[in-house]
Amino acid sequence: MNNPSRTFLDRRFTLGRRAVSLAGVATCEDAALAPLSSFAPARDPADRIILHVDMDAFFASVEQRCAPGLDDKPVMVCGNTQARSVVAAANYLAREYGVKAGTPITTARRLCPHGVFLTGNPEKYVYTCIRLNDICRTFSPRVESFSIDESFLDITTTAHLFGGPIETAQALKARIRTELGLACSVGIGPNKLLAKTASKLEKPDGLTRLTRADIPTRYHTLPIAKLYGIGAQTAKKLEALGVRTIGHLAQVPHATLKRIFGIIGPMLVDAANGIDHSPIVTDDEQPDPKSVGNGYTLHADTRDTRKLLTVLLGLCSKVGRRLRKGGHAGRTVTLVVRYANYTTISRAHTLEAPIALDRDIFHAAAAIFDRVRRHMAIRYLGVSISKLVPTEAPRQLSLFDAQARTQLQAATRSADAIRDRYGEHALIPGRLVRCKEDI
Ligand SMILES: [Mg+2]
Repeated sequence: MNNPSRTFLDRRFTLGRRAVSLAGVATCEDAALAPLSSFAPARDPADRIILHVDMDAFFASVEQRCAPGLDDKPVMVCGNTQARSVVAAANYLAREYGVKAGTPITTARRLCPHGVFLTGNPEKYVYTCIRLNDICRTFSPRVESFSIDESFLDITTTAHLFGGPIETAQALKARIRTELGLACSVGIGPNKLLAKTASKLEKPDGLTRLTRADIPTRYHTLPIAKLYGIGAQTAKKLEALGVRTIGHLAQVPHATLKRIFGIIGPMLVDAANGIDHSPIVTDDEQPDPKSVGNGYTLHADTRDTRKLLTVLLGLCSKVGRRLRKGGHAGRTVTLVVRYANYTTISRAHTLEAPIALDRDIFHAAAAIFDRVRRHMAIRYLGVSISKLVPTEAPRQLSLFDAQARTQLQAATRSADAIRDRYGEHALIPGRLVRCKEDI
């Protein structure tokens, strides 16, 4: 992908995380911003008809559907309901009290003391997500599951079968409402960027179309912070440069922003002009992951080695399970340790042969943990595996423990089969049962 705009909606690329230095750079004020009305939207020959489906308050809505008594209550779903967790999703009633995703649970309890706090149930959400995408695929074969509660559909060649783009969106919303019992907002646009922007404009339960003709009145007038992919810091820097709306940004010459923001500068201007060529990537076309990892924040900072190793064991089981599910094994094991004062270190070790069994991952991670300084209580642990290869790739097996390994592999396969059938918590390592952390 040579054209940087092709990657603008690529979820692996996060604009907001890029460090941008503005020191000693002139502002955009000299870019002679023309009035917005002078913008004449040109039809992009690459225009398609894209739908963006965004489930409304997804986790909270799924919980409400499962327990109808919650219908008129503020509902907040959290990783766990302990003090150190954050709210993962808040329904619209809870949002009226100022609670939103990312609000620490202690703050949420203060803002909305009579609200219902629930521990999230990821399996329910994943199951609903799979059903959502099954419904989407009855409207177009080109569906991209963008996140657990968002999907893109390319209906360029199928919209006529349902009476047109709006009618397709209406039928899709109705199916989701009837079959899943959930509300969603749908955006329609000539590309993923504008479809995604459109779905946000009339939440909840919205249906919004943004065409190129709407760009001057409905896109360029939005505050700069609403440009998809812009982080809070980048938005602040742009505002400081006099760029307050998406329309202002669209007027800034590529060269000016390139000087200030480097390679992402021209991408920002393209996005502000509603240009986005990023393709729909279906499940079959998703690139293989470069690494698989899990992390966990302890309920309380601790120096207790036994407890930390138990958490590590739980993390390694999760990583192993995900590796095997994806048909991968990996050679590099990385351990991340965050101390009570938030300093974070990361240590990696690369093995001779790829591994995918929980026990092998734990041995490697524990060996790294052994060498890490424990001068201070630990707040967070993370484990990831990289340098991935397909599981079928030939492995180097020691002749002496070949039989023991074959037995361990068979036992792991049985355990995986039980979890496939009865859920992830059907089998957990014995040490974790006694540990009061919910990894
Ligand atoms: Mg959503």
